Amino acid sequence: MTRNDLLIIGGGPSGLFAAAELARHGVGARLIEREVRSHREARATAIEPGTLEILDSVGLLPPFLDAGEHVRRSWLYGPDMSELRAMSFEGVDCRCEFQCSLPQYETQRILEAHLVSLGGVVERGVTATKVEADANDVLVELVHVDGGVETVHPAVVIGAGGAHSVTRDSMSEPLEGATYQGHFLVADIAMQTPFPRDESRLVCGPDGLLLLAPLPGGRWISFQDLEEAVQTVSAEDVVAHIKVRLGGKYEPTDVAWFAPFRMHRRIVSRLADGRRFLIGDAAHLSSPFAGQGLNSGLHDGYDLAWKLALVLRGHGPRSLIDGYAVERMIADHHVLDVSDQVHRAIVGIADGVRQRPEVPAPVWDPVATALLRNARAMIDIDYAGSPLVADYAANGADTAEPHPGQRYPDRMRLGGTSHHVLVFGPVEDAESLARLGRRWSKLVEISHEPGLNPVRAGVPAGGVVLIRPDGHIGFRFPSADPGALAALDRHLSSYLIPDPTVCPDIADTYA
Ligand SMILES: Cc1cc2nc3c(=O)[nH]c(=O)nc-3n(C[C@H](O)[C@H](O)[C@H](O)COP(=O)(O)OP(=O)(O)OC[C@H]3O[C@@H](n4cnc5c(N)ncnc54)[C@H](O)[C@@H]3O)c2cc1C
Repeated sequence: MTRNDLLIIGGGPSGLFAAAELARHGVGARLIEREVRSHREARATAIEPGTLEILDSVGLLPPFLDAGEHVRRSWLYGPDMSELRAMSFEGVDCRCEFQCSLPQYETQRILEAHLVSLGGVVERGVTATKVEADANDVLVELVHVDGGVETVHPAVVIGAGGAHSVTRDSMSEPLEGATYQGHFLVADIAMQTPFPRDESRLVCGPDGLLLLAPLPGGRWISFQDLEEAVQTVSAEDVVAHIKVRLGGKYEPTDVAWFAPFRMHRRIVSRLADGRRFLIGDAAHLSSPFAGQGLNSGLHDGYDLAWKLALVLRGHGPRSLIDGYAVERMIADHHVLDVSDQVHRAIVGIADGVRQRPEVPAPVWDPVATALLRNARAMIDIDYAGSPLVADYAANGADTAEPHPGQRYPDRMRLGGTSHHVLVFGPVEDAESLARLGRRWSKLVEISHEPGLNPVRAGVPAGGVVLIRPDGHIGFRFPSADPGALAALDRHLSSYLIPDPTVCPDIADTYA
């Protein structure tokens, strides 16, 4: 496979991370980016706890933690800065029980440096102007900044071009859904306040809403609603609006960047067609109030890379990459639902305050709060029902969580790019387990008695689970008897290709 065989169009966060992940899984890709220079716009700032775990799994946590503020709590304020309630990430069962808050250009700088460290490169000043596919071929026309035109025929195209993706257009896939009512203004500001740097705050007053989240260097990212469709906004308007919404107590001393924008809830109806794959904003747009858009683009790239790499390296049938569209459609719809819930809650409170200044204290439901916390942290993605997931405990008494499809909370104890089989107790037939290990030796690491708590993998002592490269549970069986190992072998064979030179008859042995 040559570099031109796998083309990623768009060097935003999604494209950069997908390219780096493919490289980590041993597959080189060509990544093109229209812009000649990196931008300096703060844009998406919140990296959620679940995404930090993903970054941790690829060795990228330290640069993010060093470059960002760690936001542990969000406060909701009513008129006159009266405290209404707080939401915290405490207890979310991740290494980082906080958001990492940093400008998007810093996120992109870190991701690009990571890609380069893995041997990749971003080709800047190259625009994909045409993507065409027929039954046998994909044709992409590339226009270089010097005017040169190049035509390539990649086997696979990853569309990471954001909301106006040329790849998505070529698939005739509109971003279906709706645009939320109202116009908003985002700004990167400097402001002296006594607000703690590990908290974000949403202020709902009679003049409108203001969301403030800390950025490194004493700065803040701010969102505010605009009264009506505003054609032009000045830096002075940004300062004036923020000052009013903070009751005149504080005002920005610098505005580095600002932009009016609208919010959307939109998604394509299919994420892939076998050769073209959509990731990030090319595939879905969610309300920035939940801070999940950039995050879900990184999750898309993380997911696509392990599946695509296995197929391109000859370790999986082509059907494995169909799993990308199936599983990420589940996850991306969930992101849209959660973002919608957050958006409606925020706008509802803001509208309520505007209509009558006395805000009733919100009712606190601990279960709903914990579920929303996990959803906002992005650790609750559940691929149950996917063909890449099998649960042999589902019909028995043991239906404990986490179940196959869910995140394995101790996945950081594993590492690497392979699948892991964890056997939590004695094995009836040690030779069968050894044969299983030899048959899948290139793709699966087997840990017998791994020294981990089986309950956290959703099985009793003696059970067996498969953890996929993305840290999700792929299979469980409450015991490790020969029937369990046969079922596991069948499950692995359903989407991976075993080494044919090693124990080729093992499936028959287990049948
Ligand atoms: C105000 C605001 C605040 C937000 N806050 C958050 C937040 O806190 N957390 C969060 O998770 N998300 C947030 N988001 C969403 C987030 O910004 C996006 O989801 C994210 O930028 C998507 O990344 P991407 O790489 O998919 O697309 P983009 O960032 O749009 O990148 C696409 C890249 O592709 C390039 N490109 C496009 N077409 C071509 C072509 N034909 N050829 C070559 N190159 C091309 C573009 O130049 C661009 O660099 C926010 C969004 C907004 C508007």
